[in-house]
Amino acid sequence: MREIYLDNSATTKPSEASLQKMREALCICYGNPGSVHRIGIDAHRLLEEARRHVAASLGVRRQTDGQVLFCSCGTEANNQAIWGTVHAKNRPEKNGSRGKILITEGEHPSVENTAARLELDGFTVVRVPTRNGALDLEYLEQEADGSVILASMMLVNNETGALYPIRTAVDIVRQNSPGAVVHCDAVQAYMRIPVTPAALGVDLLSVSAHKIYAPKGAGALYISPEMLRGKRIIPLLMGGGQEGGLRSGTENVPAIAAFGAAALEGMQEAETRAQVLHRLRTVLLEKLHSLVQINAPKNGVDAIVNITLPDIKSEVMLRALSAAGICVSAGSACSARTKKISPTLLAFGLTQREADCSLRISLSHQNTEEEISQFADVLDNEIHRLVRLR
Ligand code: PLP
Repeated sequence: MREIYLDNSATTKPSEASLQKMREALCICYGNPGSVHRIGIDAHRLLEEARRHVAASLGVRRQTDGQVLFCSCGTEANNQAIWGTVHAKNRPEKNGSRGKILITEGEHPSVENTAARLELDGFTVVRVPTRNGALDLEYLEQEADGSVILASMMLVNNETGALYPIRTAVDIVRQNSPGAVVHCDAVQAYMRIPVTPAALGVDLLSVSAHKIYAPKGAGALYISPEMLRGKRIIPLLMGGGQEGGLRSGTENVPAIAAFGAAALEGMQEAETRAQVLHRLRTVLLEKLHSLVQINAPKNGVDAIVNITLPDIKSEVMLRALSAAGICVSAGSACSARTKKISPTLLAFGLTQREADCSLRISLSHQNTEEEISQFADVLDNEIHRLVRLR
């Protein structure tokens, strides 16, 4: 049975170009990029080639535009951004308060749980509401004040596909909290829509390789020149001083080289991929609108469609679809095994029951209209079968 893979926000199938680059790094340029012999120098060359491609894909063309720091994944990039900034500030405690961190409601756990941990350490964390997938800018404006040390706001929500007006949000933060550092988790936006730290006006921006058709094992954090110059970020990992001293540990050259190749390919194919995705979404929505409730934000990306089934638990439907060779998910992949009701969907405005009956379908340019039709037919049959069994 050929699987129909509609879980591309969880991870993507690595492209041939990225795998080929990975093979080159594994089999030919297998040296340590820190070594000064030929094989080491070759590995270093691959590393820097990848850095140029990832940087270019983020509109970072000169060294003076900032640095792309390689790490292991989007989760690490987010942790590095938040911990590294908050601990570099050394802001003196005021009345026992260590400063305010602004995030959005329904951040990925790598941001939400890091913020929650910092809350236990005495920082104030404010979660800006995201009802119906709209970032509450009035609330943000009320909360943005001189005590804000960091704002970390995702660009695209991984469960609902909501696209937040980050540039406007950044302007609000900068106006009201001039000392604050601004970070954006762009993991779900990267390579699906144009993403540049300059256009967003952020100091830090996270991306992940396995969401853009490269294998797992690499991520990147963009760091602005001001952050570097002002030493406003400190490393999470200390050791041999790789990555300009900001991320020690021998770089995962095969995964990073593949990441660079995928970034290059993504830039070259951006327009055609966007057209395919838009078409696939249109077909999907046409087929689903009479069948299920579509939890579409006012402004969302084409790649993610969140639906609520007619009183059928997502877990039950996931199993039925999986048996038919269809891969989708209920919310984010990392919470799939915890069976916790998604806080993101509750923040969106769904009831507990609705959230418990929701599925995320996430598309790729690798999908076809035929796959979308097959998926919709199977979903239709399964809904009717499961309703009859009630
Ligand atoms: N941020 C968002 C919005 C995500 O969707 C994910 C992964 O699903 C991550 C961060 C974490 O990325 P990684 O899986 O590379 O750790």
